[in-house]
Amino acid sequence: LVKAIDVSKHFGPFKALDEVSLDVRRGEVCCIIGPSGSGKSTFLRCINLLERIDSGSIWIEGELLGYRRDGNSLHEISDREIARQRRRTGMVFQRFNLFPHMTALQNIIEGPVQVLGEPVKEARERGRDLLARVGLSDKMESYPSELSGGQQQRVAIARAMGMRPDIILFDEPTSALDPELVSEVLDVMKDLAETGMTMIVVTHELGFARNVADTVAFMETGRIEEVGPAAKVLTQPDSLRASEFIKAVQ
Ligand code: ATP
Ligand code: MG
Repeated sequence: LVKAIDVSKHFGPFKALDEVSLDVRRGEVCCIIGPSGSGKSTFLRCINLLERIDSGSIWIEGELLGYRRDGNSLHEISDREIARQRRRTGMVFQRFNLFPHMTALQNIIEGPVQVLGEPVKEARERGRDLLARVGLSDKMESYPSELSGGQQQRVAIARAMGMRPDIILFDEPTSALDPELVSEVLDVMKDLAETGMTMIVVTHELGFARNVADTVAFMETGRIEEVGPAAKVLTQPDSLRASEFIKAVQ
């Protein structure tokens, strides 16, 4: 479903991504682990078209992101096309970044109504279903400031789902949470995975990776050092650096 081929990205002279390749199939959960500064967020931002890549290519269901091929040359696509492609991916960030002046339900129906043009009544019904799925039926009318971090993050997940994305990207969705709130968010993500949602999850929660991920990619200095079945990479990685990292995080 998502295919990255030799993706490189510089910030000035600094190479944040160095020929990163990754293949995530429909319904798969891929966890990306690795030390701070290794390029995990940058990679997600490239898939979400928040960053432009310098070379290589990223495809979603066979559609090239950000460019149009014309014979042998590539052309940047319009902002409108970028916005359309971006809607194929949902993104959940470390900080919940809900709209503070909107209730949980309003946060969820905003995108479907404004961007997808869904009728309000239908969007509200689906919003209620989504909030029920993340266990927040009783918080529909609450504002973000009235919700715990874990509840806000569950609203953020429901909001991402509301846009009917092909894939949801999670960037350390639990690392800003108090420890006792982590599991409620991971449980929602696990449920989502079980419904067959395709997910790429940057996380330090190796227990989640072990239980939920199909594949794990270990990133280091802008490269994917190792990628493979979760059980293999987490317990018997080939890379010494991956093995040291996993020992240190556990
Ligand atoms: P963390 O675990 O701390 O979130 P990460 O693996 O997500 O780290 P990135 O945020 O992708 O790492 O950053 C990779 C490298 O690129 C870092 O060295 C960072 O300083 C650099 N970088 C990221 N964004 C920019 C930017 N907009 N301008 C310049 N350098 C950047
Ligand atoms: Mg990051």
